[in-house]
Amino acid sequence: MALKIYNTLTRELKDFIPFHGKKVNMYVCGPTVYDHCHLGHARSYVSFDVIRRYLSYRGYDVNYISNITDVDDKVINRARESGEDPLELSRKFTDSFIEDMETLAVLSPDTRPKVTEHINEIISTIETLVQKGAAYVTHKGNVYYDLTRSEEKIGVLSHQTAEGLLEGSGSRVDVEDDKRYQLDFVLWKVSPEDEIGWDSPWGRGRPGWHIECSVMSAKYGSEQLDIHGGGMDLIFPHHEAEIHQSESCTGKHPFSKYWMHNGFLTIDKEKMSKSLGNFFTIKEVLGKFPAGTIRFFIVYTHYRSTIDFSEDALEEAGRARKRLLNSISNVEHALDSAPEDDNDAGLDELIDTTRDEFMTAMDDDFNTREAIGSMFVFGRKVNSIISSENPGREALRRVLDFFAEIDGVLGIFTEKESPSESDDTGLSDEEINGMIELREKARAEKDWAKADAIRDELKEKGIIIEDGKEGVRWRRE
Ligand code: AMP
Ligand code: ZN
Repeated sequence: MALKIYNTLTRELKDFIPFHGKKVNMYVCGPTVYDHCHLGHARSYVSFDVIRRYLSYRGYDVNYISNITDVDDKVINRARESGEDPLELSRKFTDSFIEDMETLAVLSPDTRPKVTEHINEIISTIETLVQKGAAYVTHKGNVYYDLTRSEEKIGVLSHQTAEGLLEGSGSRVDVEDDKRYQLDFVLWKVSPEDEIGWDSPWGRGRPGWHIECSVMSAKYGSEQLDIHGGGMDLIFPHHEAEIHQSESCTGKHPFSKYWMHNGFLTIDKEKMSKSLGNFFTIKEVLGKFPAGTIRFFIVYTHYRSTIDFSEDALEEAGRARKRLLNSISNVEHALDSAPEDDNDAGLDELIDTTRDEFMTAMDDDFNTREAIGSMFVFGRKVNSIISSENPGREALRRVLDFFAEIDGVLGIFTEKESPSESDDTGLSDEEINGMIELREKARAEKDWAKADAIRDELKEKGIIIEDGKEGVRWRRE
């Protein structure tokens, strides 16, 4: 079975064939750090984290680059409002972002380049574009990319005409009076005296937003990427701009072989975003829900589908995840009293078929929803085998290894708070063991009423007790 990826460039689901064998250069656009990141950002980075992890699991050697936009209009405006130094401000929110990503078990990129650390490279790329006649300098000292030079590529990613793009381009296409053509985009922007800026051949200024990704992806990845990712809102103008700049500069086509875009996280069907004010920061949501639940909530939807955020939906995700954690905890618990024999009770075969199902789902454009679905079935079957067939210790260990193997891809068991801490039984393993001891004592004293009452109380809290030859065993429902 081959891994298939949906490519925004061709609008097709096709076999994934990187440029160079197993080597994958993957670039994902990072955040503009002018505030704490919200759950929509988490959606993007958790989705691409799973994609990256699955590629590694599939044996690819992934070089993952994700940038930090630490200077741009939003950073500068926010710093002006708060009276802070813009670079101090962006440093603070970069730290906040990295902290959030670590909490959500998003692996660090191989490189996390910042715009402000690449100003010289950005200037020399813009110089190349000006020399090649692909960019022009205006009387104000701004430098724009001249789209009439690569007109045939307009709409290459958004699949729209220039007219359509102009009509629907919204806030992310700047309207400036020194542009020759409205879809031209800025490469270098003059800085007013009192604003942050760097000297350049065109005067003191700073880079436009798009150029950084062309420069940093070539520097740390390759002039031709295997995968370029970001949220759907980046398709135009950001990613199209990257294609124009990079291909004009290097003469190589395609700039990226596969373009992948995650769907939105919405609230009441509207995209969660800073500008609409309908956002919850990752930190706010972490105050109410465990990180594992938030990550599960995101991963349990296919990366291209929309996720509508609500507390109810997160609670539901928490309950679903708990079912899987309970299966893990049942296996751990069963290990305590498992026989030392090599009876696998069908577990090994179950692991193999589940792995196949998991990979088939993930090979289908990273269908995490179905992949997790196969883990639910696995968990249920494991619960039932444990309660009826008394499998041997080694087989149970292999079940735990398999959960860990899958967790290496999905990262949804990593932050494995004890299920009792987050579940509605409110009972820890120790408390359950304590109650079972009391019940044993009552039984020994032939106080059947008390023994039954304890059993019923545990049952009400979702703990099932089984009296077997080896003594009492329990599991969470
Ligand atoms: P920004 O800082 O706005 O450039 O966003 C950084 C990344 O997060 C981009 O890839 C965006 O597309 C993505 N993103 C922002 N908001 C959302 C959202 N509500 N849902 C999904 N992705 C988002
Ligand atoms: Zn970018």
